[in-house]
Amino acid sequence: MPIPAYKAPKSRAYDIVIAGGAVVGSSTAYWLSQKLGREASVLVVERDSSYEFSSTALSTSAIRQQYSNPINVKISQFGIEFIRDFPERMAPFFRDEAAPDLGFREHGYLYCVSPEGVDPARERVDLQRSLGAHTVFLEPGPLKERFPWLNVDDLGGGAWGARDEGWFDSMGMLNGLRRAARCSGIEYIDNAVIGLGMQGGRVASVRLATGEEVACGVLVNAAGPRAQQICDMAGLSIPVAPFKRYSFVFASCTPIPGRMPNVIDLSGTFVRPEGELFLTGNTPLNDGPADYDDFEIHHDEFDDRIWPALWHRIPDFDALRVKQCWTGHYEYNMLDHNGIVGFHPEVTNFMFANGFSGHGLQQSPAVGRAVAELIVDGGFQTLDLSAFRYERIPLNEPFVEEAVI
Ligand SMILES: Cc1cc2nc3c(=O)[nH]c(=O)nc-3n(C[C@H](O)[C@H](O)[C@H](O)COP(=O)(O)OP(=O)(O)OC[C@H]3O[C@@H](n4cnc5c(N)ncnc54)[C@H](O)[C@@H]3O)c2cc1C
Repeated sequence: MPIPAYKAPKSRAYDIVIAGGAVVGSSTAYWLSQKLGREASVLVVERDSSYEFSSTALSTSAIRQQYSNPINVKISQFGIEFIRDFPERMAPFFRDEAAPDLGFREHGYLYCVSPEGVDPARERVDLQRSLGAHTVFLEPGPLKERFPWLNVDDLGGGAWGARDEGWFDSMGMLNGLRRAARCSGIEYIDNAVIGLGMQGGRVASVRLATGEEVACGVLVNAAGPRAQQICDMAGLSIPVAPFKRYSFVFASCTPIPGRMPNVIDLSGTFVRPEGELFLTGNTPLNDGPADYDDFEIHHDEFDDRIWPALWHRIPDFDALRVKQCWTGHYEYNMLDHNGIVGFHPEVTNFMFANGFSGHGLQQSPAVGRAVAELIVDGGFQTLDLSAFRYERIPLNEPFVEEAVI
């Protein structure tokens, strides 16, 4: 018998509700499922299960060890371990099929360094090496020898990581995590969180676009560039907004021989091979917060800024043709371009997993694990991510990381 229209939808209760089911939400769901088994009820609410506009789907999906802050190096080291072990980890959830391989391309990163930047770059390399990374600093001569196609005339050198750096398949990671979480009893629904019911300063329930109200013990904000929308619902504020990033795939008349790394130019433009083609992007002119639904591309960015920078750094890039382009949103932390991870100090069951800016994909394995530890164990058990706590935001104390792209 059909349910009469006036009837309120049946109310449900979950121990943990995750708003947003892309890579950060699904990593959190995966780690919760590994810790709790079917002991706890966890709901992931995803407003667009096609993930068409998610940062995860539109990411350029690279991972590096080249950071200036030790905790970021350690997070990415765990990221690499996770990527390498992915097929094995996922195998129990893909019994009759091949477990996903993330197609990791270990081509490394090459940071171009200006003459003035040599000392700090050497310090970063020393720090990374002390933590087990394989970065080396190359003077202009050896740099040219190693990468003959690179213009080193205006460089003081380059920081090159030949191992544990490269790029991988973002949707493969998301799909694997999501499948593993679902197979372990986590529920995913196609719906949007449109409001939070607050009681005694805590999140008591989540209101869904379909009108249903779901009671919850803990709310995890994993809404990517829309994180502030979820914060608004609890009367909270974080400096996270969507910032547009344009990606261009192009063909070059002249191929680049050898194993080309992800080159980060002094201008901030990056370029790397993508099969026979190349992928590039930069920090666009007039960078700033964008509308949530603004994915319009600015082709001028390639013509006026990216291509001249590429041609200068790699003179073989004199004849290029753009084959494909798209716009994605960084979930940009305007205070310090780094993640916000942890419970709110007053709304004590509101968990942040936000603001990862341009490195959230590689950080998602460690972040999901850390969020699960905070919820289940009440503190970090593996990597201590307390440097990313929310408390730094109202104190206006930026987390310092020099190597942001
Ligand atoms: C062009 C580009 C290049 C990048 N390059 C790299 C890189 O090289 N390396 C790297 O590590 N990172 C990179 N990043 C960053 C990385 O992709 C992101 O940090 C990461 O994907 C963020 O994942 P997320 O799950 O937090 O956000 P998202 O992937 O955006 O997911 C958030 C999800 O929440 C859902 N949602 C939002 N609001 C609601 C709501 N109210 N109710 C229910 N669901 C909701 C959305 O539909 C979405 O699916 C890049 C990003 C871009 C855009």
